[in-house]
Amino acid sequence: MPLNIKQFYDSNTHSDNDYPGSRRASSTPEEKPCRACSDFKSWSAASNSIFHPLFQDESKKKEVECPLNKSELGNQTWGFLHTMAAYFPDKPSTDDQRDMAQFLRLFSKFYPCPTCARDFTKLIEKEPPRTSSQTELKHWLCWAHNQVNKKLGKPKFDCSKLDERWKYGWKDGSCDV
Ligand SMILES: Cc1cc2nc3c(=O)[nH]c(=O)nc-3n(C[C@H](O)[C@H](O)[C@H](O)COP(=O)(O)OP(=O)(O)OC[C@H]3O[C@@H](n4cnc5c(N)ncnc54)[C@H](O)[C@@H]3O)c2cc1C
Repeated sequence: MPLNIKQFYDSNTHSDNDYPGSRRASSTPEEKPCRACSDFKSWSAASNSIFHPLFQDESKKKEVECPLNKSELGNQTWGFLHTMAAYFPDKPSTDDQRDMAQFLRLFSKFYPCPTCARDFTKLIEKEPPRTSSQTELKHWLCWAHNQVNKKLGKPKFDCSKLDERWKYGWKDGSCDV
């Protein structure tokens, strides 16, 4: 049974203490629920958008540019993070190493899905980013992403394929169009 908007809001509301940053990502009950905290189906089930014909079919929704839901945000963020790691210097300066580690800590603090941010911040505290080289960074990130995949029941990514996926394209040439 779909949640009504109040139930959905309650299930996606986090206290300031839950959120590693100092801001709240959730909206007030008078506002719409937090898109970045939920997947499309839960969000549309709880918001007025379910009554809008455009939003009843996700493929039609793609014709409109909308705020990102949790899955879209995650997919695009991983794309950015892995691409950034793929272009990190092979031999980073001490400043580069420190700044990248700091960036990842701050990024996880302000990531706008509170449960994702909380868990990723914990993961970083337990296993700090490795920034001594590009290889170290991209393999650390691959490992970290696989931890999230495991939590979500998604398949483990083969980290030996990182450069094909995020830098040079697949060896079969399928990206060379
Ligand atoms: C920091 C962070 C924390 C998150 N935490 C949560 C959470 O707690 N709960 C939640 O519901 N969602 C979370 N998400 C979102 C979630 O990880 C996915 O992004 C989302 O479910 C969409 O998944 P997807 O199937 O599009 O593939 P994604 O997991 O987004 O992956 C995108 C692409 O990256 C490649 N890939 C997959 N694994 C790896 C890897 N290990 N290394 C390199 N490339 C890889 C694949 O080609 C894949 O298609 C988080 C996202 C981020 C960025």
